[in-house]
This record gives sequence, structure tokens and C-alpha cells, in this order.
Amino acid sequence: MIIRKAWFICQNIRVRTPVIQSQISRTRCLRLKSTTTSRSRTPNRLVARHRSLPNAKSTTIAIEETQPDGPDLRSPLERFRQAPKKALSVTDIISPAWCELQYFYTLSKYGRKKATPAMKQGTKVHQKLETEVHEVVPVDVQTVEDRWGLRIWNVIQGLRTLRATGMTRELELWGVIDGQVINGVIDEVSYTCPDLELEASLEKSTVEMSNQKKITEMFPAQGAGGSAWLSQPHPVNKIYLTDVKTRVGRSLPKGPSLRPMQMQLMLYHRLLGELAANTVAADVLFNRYNLDAKTPFSDSFIAAISDLEGGFISESDDSVPLSISELSQHNTLNQLWSLMITELQLTIPTTDAIGRVLQAEFRSQKDGSVLGNTTFAYDDTVHRTFVEDEMKWWKGEREAKGVDIEEAFKCGICEFAKGCEWRIKKLEESTAKFRERRRASGKVDTALKT
Ligand code: SF4
Repeated sequence: MIIRKAWFICQNIRVRTPVIQSQISRTRCLRLKSTTTSRSRTPNRLVARHRSLPNAKSTTIAIEETQPDGPDLRSPLERFRQAPKKALSVTDIISPAWCELQYFYTLSKYGRKKATPAMKQGTKVHQKLETEVHEVVPVDVQTVEDRWGLRIWNVIQGLRTLRATGMTRELELWGVIDGQVINGVIDEVSYTCPDLELEASLEKSTVEMSNQKKITEMFPAQGAGGSAWLSQPHPVNKIYLTDVKTRVGRSLPKGPSLRPMQMQLMLYHRLLGELAANTVAADVLFNRYNLDAKTPFSDSFIAAISDLEGGFISESDDSVPLSISELSQHNTLNQLWSLMITELQLTIPTTDAIGRVLQAEFRSQKDGSVLGNTTFAYDDTVHRTFVEDEMKWWKGEREAKGVDIEEAFKCGICEFAKGCEWRIKKLEESTAKFRERRRASGKVDTALKT
């Protein structure tokens, strides 16, 4: 069984203007979960490919078995993220911000980031937060296109939840960077600014910038959707992105430990902006997953959604059953994608509508209580430099790097420390430097004596 999310909005919530924050806690919207693919086209084929490998019991084994004899000269993209393996995720781009080499070792050994008990506990906290906003309900899907349709449908309903209640959680998004599909999920999107002081200072500096970029330079429009997106110069509500991290103890991360989450939030900011600007080529995404974007969704999928018709917020005529009407009008991936872009442009009419203030919120892994938060500003140059450099590694244009000496504390908690070539080399270098200093110091002493 494949689990997918569907979001359903309570029947009594039809307002399209944001509501005050205090209303959010009283407005828990319906959400559906759990999907079954009984005639899934692509997944069956993928499974068959894995099965065709001798003794292949997992993706990890498959990766090891397809490695050539001798040094593996393939790029990390070719080794770990080439179809039919999953595409790049936001996690893939930002995890190396902790230690690139550690992430490479992780992928080589496990094929993916290993879920530790702490991570599993963190997932439970995220699920609990999600159910504060959406109630999860199962939906059956028959084809892989249905399954993707449901994911896109969830985004649409998530955006409507945001506009109706002022906040949504677990908003999925997709982008294309360097020709590679990137997928991620934003923990929380809200109309509430997490740091008014920072927001005010950012606005002030923006106004003072004489060389402010024109919107068309930042996100060139593509197609009809793009021009609609550019036609509203005065955003009414800004949205703000939050990433939730769970912690075992009560201490909060600082310094270099904050870097991965800063890069993560900046990447979400960019991907969401580009999606709203309609500059993400949907066909690249659909081709990557071998989807037929023109195939109508199955009748049973549309029927399953229509059974829940009362649970949606819709822009359509209230006299028509909401979900069935909309899905019938947008019953292919291409059409549903267009609807999603329209919804994004309603929610994010200009680039300014995504606040530059980004928030990382820390919660207790034990009970989900808030331990603290940190805010920072989106920096386009920092973000793009980071992503560009990471993509060079993914594409095999440079070797993976370990941590700098200032961040050697990371090696102390790294499972690969024992065999890490980078660490061994750094240790040898530092020992050689120490000996050199000692030797130099000895010469000075000798000189002083004579
Ligand atoms: S030992 Fe240090 S440098 Fe090596 S992979 Fe682990 S954290 Fe990175």
C-alpha cells in the first residue's frame, strides 16, 4: 500500500480571506490519507527492474551491485539519483551542508539517509503538527498518474487552507535546478511574520536599494500563467516559511549547526517563488517520473475524491459538487498542474509576497513543545552560491569535501569517522604541522643557546 496525502477542508470554511491566527487552532481541516495502487504502471516496472538484479533485496543492495569493479567514476547523480531511482530532494541538496563527505558515505552505504530512532520520533512530532491543521483520510488510487494527481491536489488544497485559515503545513513543492527535478515539503507556511523587527529592517534596506532589481529580471514569466502572476503589483499578504526541527535535549543549535536549515529554508523560498512564477517546466518533472500527463485520471479516483466533496474548499460554483466538478475540469496531470499554478499565483501574486524572513523552529522530540526559534533573512547570493557548489559535486565536477578544522567536532559524532579518508588526512596534516612547529621551536632554542 502506498500512503499519499489528501487535504480536505471543512465544509463550513469557505472564506477566501486570511483569518486571524487565533482562529487557526479552532479550524482543523479535514485531510485524507492512504492510497492504494492496484494497477500502478511505472512502479510495477521499477520493482521488476530491482527484482531482475540477482539477490536484490533492497535499493542499497542494488546500488552496491551495480557498481563497477575498481574505483567508481560515476557522479553521485548517476550513482544515486538517476531514474528509476528517486529524483533529487531538498534533503539531498542541504544535507551536505553539514558534511558533504558524510552524506556521500551515507548514500554509498545505505542508498539514502538512514532513519534513526531520533528521526522517527521527529516524524511523529511532524505528523502531530500536521493533524492540527488537516485530518488525514484514505483515498484509493489506481494509476501512478492518480497518485501524482493526488499530490498536486493536496498542494491546491494546502494553498486554499493557507488563504482560508492563515496557515498550512506540509506543503509539497517541486522545482528544476540545473535540469534536475528537486522535490521538497515545507513544514509550515503562514501569514504571520515570525520576526517583525527583521522584516522592518529588510523592508527599509530594500527601499534604500537604488539598484533594486525589477521583478521581471528576478523571475522571467513563461506562458500565460506568468503574465497573470505579474499583473498584481501590490501583494496584500506576505507568506512566511518555517522549518520545524526536533531536538532530543533542550539546547538550541548555533553557529555552523544552523547552516543546513538556513540553506534548506532558502531553497524552499526559491523553489516556491519559481513555482508561483510558473518557471518550472512541468514536462521535465513528468518525464523524470515517466508520467503520462495527458492521461485522464481513473474514474474510481475521481469518484473517491467526489465521495469527499464536502471536505474541499473550491473556487467553483457552490451548486456543483466541489471536488468532482474541479477534477472533471482538470482531469489530467497537465490540467491539474495548471490549476495548481493558478492557485499559487492567487496566493503568491508577486515575488514580494514570499517574506524574506525565514524561521527555524525547534521543538522537543519528546512532546513536541516549542523550545525556541531562530530567524534569518533570505540571501539570494548566499543561496545560489551554495546550491551551485553542491550541484557541482552531485554532477561529479568535483570531489566531496569533509569538514574544515573549525568544525572537527562533527567528526566526533560521525559514524564514518574511523575510515574517513578526509579526517585521516587532516589528522596527518595537523600532526605534521605540530612536529614542524616543535622542530622550528627546537631550532630557535638551539640558536638562543649558542
Ligand atoms: S569523519 Fe568528519 S570529515 Fe569524515 S565524513 Fe565524518 S564528519 Fe565528515
